[in-house]
Amino acid sequence: MNKDKLKKGSILVLKKGHPCGENLWEIIRFGAVCKLKCLGCQREVLMNRMDLRKKVKKVVNNEEDN
Ligand SMILES: [Zn+2]
Repeated sequence: MNKDKLKKGSILVLKKGHPCGENLWEIIRFGAVCKLKCLGCQREVLMNRMDLRKKVKKVVNNEEDN
């Protein structure tokens, strides 16, 4: 887990999943306020970056690491 590598396109597992049952999220906008898309139901949520860092459990995929 390396939360410092969060960026647009990162796939995340959060500490708390989405009500739809999925817990995989893609960062579709990264800034002071980040936009995440639930990969289960495609719904988008806004989250402030500080909150996001606290909620991330694991970074599943970062393109640059592959
Ligand atoms: Zn969902």
